[in-house]
Amino acid sequence: MEKIKSIETFLLDLDGTFYLGDQLYPWSLPFVETMKRLGKRFIFVTNNSSQNGSYYVEKIRKMGVSITDDQVFTAGQATIFYLKKYNYPKNIYLVGTPALEQEFRDEGFVLTEKDPEVVVLGFDLTLTYEKLERACFFIRQGLPFIATHPDFNCPTPTGPIPDCGSMIALITASTGVKPKIIGKPYPEMIEALRSKYGLEDPKTVAMVGDRLYTDIAMGKAAGITSILVLSGETQLDDLLTSDTKPDVIVENLGEIAKAFQ
Ligand SMILES: [Mg+2]
Repeated sequence: MEKIKSIETFLLDLDGTFYLGDQLYPWSLPFVETMKRLGKRFIFVTNNSSQNGSYYVEKIRKMGVSITDDQVFTAGQATIFYLKKYNYPKNIYLVGTPALEQEFRDEGFVLTEKDPEVVVLGFDLTLTYEKLERACFFIRQGLPFIATHPDFNCPTPTGPIPDCGSMIALITASTGVKPKIIGKPYPEMIEALRSKYGLEDPKTVAMVGDRLYTDIAMGKAAGITSILVLSGETQLDDLLTSDTKPDVIVENLGEIAKAFQ
């Protein structure tokens, strides 16, 4: 709890941490109110690239939480940051939803099936066999293959559904090529977050999430405090078999808020 008190910026996972599907957890609003009262910063960091940043901002606002546009950061946005930073060509074959396509177009990328120079894979809820076939064709031709995040499944109220990591597995099985992956827990995500938000003093920053191999692993890799919530995917039993150990374990965000009372 002492560790929690020294945190000034909380990087918060969304699904399984702040809400589940469309249902805000009952402790999330009080958590936000406490953070605002104390002048602590909180930024939502999600790997889910099936929607874009503005969608999440709107979704959170509709749940009654007032936030600014830059309080959400997605793996899709981190991928755009990465492509720009390393001067990748603008012509992309993007396997993604219309929302992700829009975000890439808004940032000046040209989405094309004719002569693309890079293949980017997101969590595509509109995936078709034709898209897979084309992506594999371009990757076999030697185009760089970038994926927004590694999650195998996405939690939903009715159970897990195949996510970007599962789509990567299919493409890699077909082509033999592994992608460059950007989202949590990879250093590219941390680099993008640092560039956008500063986060100079690692002792005052925490990553809070429900998943060991993304949220907690990123906290560890970034040298910041990692806080596991048990409101989502991870059960206490999972910790026995995992090499990734969080610095702090709490039931949910409400317990973090309580640390400040
Ligand atoms: Mg989660």
